[in-house]
Amino acid sequence: MTPYDAPAPRSTAAFGRAAAPAPLVDGFGRAVTYLRVSVTDRCDLRCVYCMAEHMVFLPKAEVLTLEELDTLASAFVGLGVRKLRLTGGEPLVRKGIMTLVERLSRHHQTGALDELTLTTNASQLAPVAGELARLGVRRINVSLDTLKPDLFRALTRGGDLAKVLEGIDAAQAAGLAVKINAVALKGDNAAEIPELVRWAHGRGADLTLIETMPLGETGVDRVDQFLSLETVRQELSSYWTLTDLPLQTGGPARYVRVEETGGRLGFITPMTHNFCENCNRVRLTCTGVLHTCLGREDERDLRAVIRGGADPEALEVAIRLAISGKPKGHDFHIERGAAPALTRHMSRTGG
Ligand code: SAM
Ligand code: SF4
Repeated sequence: MTPYDAPAPRSTAAFGRAAAPAPLVDGFGRAVTYLRVSVTDRCDLRCVYCMAEHMVFLPKAEVLTLEELDTLASAFVGLGVRKLRLTGGEPLVRKGIMTLVERLSRHHQTGALDELTLTTNASQLAPVAGELARLGVRRINVSLDTLKPDLFRALTRGGDLAKVLEGIDAAQAAGLAVKINAVALKGDNAAEIPELVRWAHGRGADLTLIETMPLGETGVDRVDQFLSLETVRQELSSYWTLTDLPLQTGGPARYVRVEETGGRLGFITPMTHNFCENCNRVRLTCTGVLHTCLGREDERDLRAVIRGGADPEALEVAIRLAISGKPKGHDFHIERGAAPALTRHMSRTGG
């Protein structure tokens, strides 16, 4: 328990019983029930669409402690957030990450949380997969853009594909459902997408394709990387039967069933279509900054609130104020030579 855990129920004099806190709802009537927490901006890889080759990482003093991460995430749970995703940077490079997972799992045990999960590059997943399952994690997302070791090394600037595959094997052996996320990259993995689909579905994993977004300077022109998923979908449907699925995860992915493989394929298309009208999520960085939209500059410093010694009510007020200002949606554009839409990298905000 932290002093900021689920705010004490307020008594409603008229009914003589305690009331749960009001849900977090933004100015457009969207309920916010999903928090992504970037637990570190660091990573053991340097994916070409995500980071620059030589990144300057945050000084440790700026990064929230595990206790502070617990405090903030738990405050959101107390205000009605039902799903927590740990991300980064690479969450598994954060020292003590399993302690944080263990602490947050109490909300799962009490039923306050429907899901505690994480997004990982899986390079350090194998040794902790069993422990994650034991702590109540049921599903994880693994980012993997290619099954070719050389291309993997090039796209991640040095990564070892074998370690990632070992991590995925260990996760599935521990009973975790794995969803693979792949960023579609023109000229890199474009031709390999059908193979990625067959591979993922062949091992019982969903696959979601993502359009690359112009976040942060990476040293690579995004126009050269960008591949429209509309084009990919058209090409896949020329030889496969793609049946639209009603499955709504509250997220930006739209799913189809590939009848020939029997598996699910998702498309996240922030560039060609946005689905902001149903957005239910906000993001907390490892420095305690709350971003209520991935594609806008809005931010609220919650670290200052808790390090300033504010009480739980003050934190609740700060969170509600930030949520009330959640922008209607993002509006990404990719133009040759243009600066990224936002200077912050995806690894900072948490993908
Ligand atoms: N390191 C972990 C991983 O790679 O899964 C978690 C953090 S990573 C920032 C989360 C997701 O963001 C990954 O699936 C990654 O492919 C995606 N991502 C990073 N930069 C992106 C960009 N510019 N456009 C689209 N997706 C991006
Ligand atoms: Fe690291 Fe994930 Fe970014 Fe790749 S996408 S550099 S694995 S944080």
